[in-house]
Amino acid sequence: MLGIIGGSGIYELDGLKNAQWREVDTPFGKPSDAILVGELDGVQVAFLPRHGRGHRIPPSLLNVRANISALKQLGVTDILSLSAVGSLKEDLPPGTFVVVDQFIDLTRGRESTFFDEGLVAHVSMAHPVCARVGDAAETAAKAVGGSFRRGGTYVCMEGPQFSSRAESNIYRSWGAHVIGMTNMPEAKLAREAEICFATVAMVTDFDCWHPDHDAVTAAAVAETFKQNANRARDLVRRAIPLLAKHPEKCPKGCDHVLDAAVMTAPHARDALRARMLKTAGLRVEATDAKHDPHDLARLIRTVPDFPKKGIQFRDITTLLEDAAGFRRSVRALVDRYKGQRIDKIMGIDARGFILGGAMAYELGCGFAPVRKKGKLPGATLRVEYALEYGTDAVELREDGLKRGERVVIVDDLIATGGTAEAAIKLAKLKEAVVVEACFVIELPDLHGRQRLEAAGARVHSLVSFEGD
Ligand SMILES: [Zn+2]
Repeated sequence: MLGIIGGSGIYELDGLKNAQWREVDTPFGKPSDAILVGELDGVQVAFLPRHGRGHRIPPSLLNVRANISALKQLGVTDILSLSAVGSLKEDLPPGTFVVVDQFIDLTRGRESTFFDEGLVAHVSMAHPVCARVGDAAETAAKAVGGSFRRGGTYVCMEGPQFSSRAESNIYRSWGAHVIGMTNMPEAKLAREAEICFATVAMVTDFDCWHPDHDAVTAAAVAETFKQNANRARDLVRRAIPLLAKHPEKCPKGCDHVLDAAVMTAPHARDALRARMLKTAGLRVEATDAKHDPHDLARLIRTVPDFPKKGIQFRDITTLLEDAAGFRRSVRALVDRYKGQRIDKIMGIDARGFILGGAMAYELGCGFAPVRKKGKLPGATLRVEYALEYGTDAVELREDGLKRGERVVIVDDLIATGGTAEAAIKLAKLKEAVVVEACFVIELPDLHGRQRLEAAGARVHSLVSFEGD
């Protein structure tokens, strides 16, 4: 399947048959928008507006791992990426399309790999663009007409501000051709996902090094921008039949880079990360959890007959004591919610505080404790819930959440889901948006998931223990 990532000015693709916007969920959270899946000239196409429809997401906040992962999960094998850029060369005037073949990555602090501690991989970026997809883009661009160049170096800066003149001149001294804010880490992540990737960089204006830069009116830039978007749509329509079939093996090797990239020995791999990458569609061999000393299921202690006879108590204390195990659990949860604009973690008394505190720190959001009754001073909201015998209640500080805030509820374990359901009700009393309720351990036989879903929340867990 062919994937198209539309940049600034390109938020939809018309003419697709059986077109449908599809929501895709990934282990790395939500992509920029739903993905438009349809058919053109008998070719399956998946289109993602990089910044979301209406251009909502700035370059630094793009969840690129989710974008690439979502396309991969849909079965995308080739990506044609479209990006608006500034020109660093006199002979690449506004309106020029450049099929770049090199990148200089100057971005900072973006999540630029699917791999992590416990699953180390090094893929080659010597040739970051698939020449096969590049050939198709070139043929299509020539058919469209207009100023065109094959090959060139794209400097990816962090933004959102444009460069200073001193910076612009440095990039020129490096021999770079165009400058933009979005193609990294997109190209790196496509490579790790073994997707053939090429970029069409559409020159909107000269960067500020150019003597004419200050004289160009906003109206002229907007006009070029509009014309580029129209030509890009034409280019895409012409490129689609050229990329109708992904070859059995890409002659450039993009679709089997992981063959020799994963360094971590099978017995030392993080089983949880391996499962996440498999869900994301990456070709990573599932690790046998039996051999992973930090595997979550092994680190969770089972205490028989606690707190009363007949109950198998699943205890995460031993997991918390293991540095690698604790870190992996928190990272796996954080990776899911990064890029989802979470305002607060609602941690459930008491082990939810430990996980939730670490998550809130990593996500840079607030933490709202959901406490057992009588523990919070001042004005509180209270929700009661039924126990086997009698009732219990949880409380939230009355001003603990604001209307419309996006929250994730977290606890160590979901059994029947009574407490978590009460936490959802507390969030709803404040008209907050429950993005998801997440847990380290799920006991599926007790149907807590169904109960929370019926209450309108999505549920995510890292490990399940059946038969409890
Ligand atoms: Zn390729």
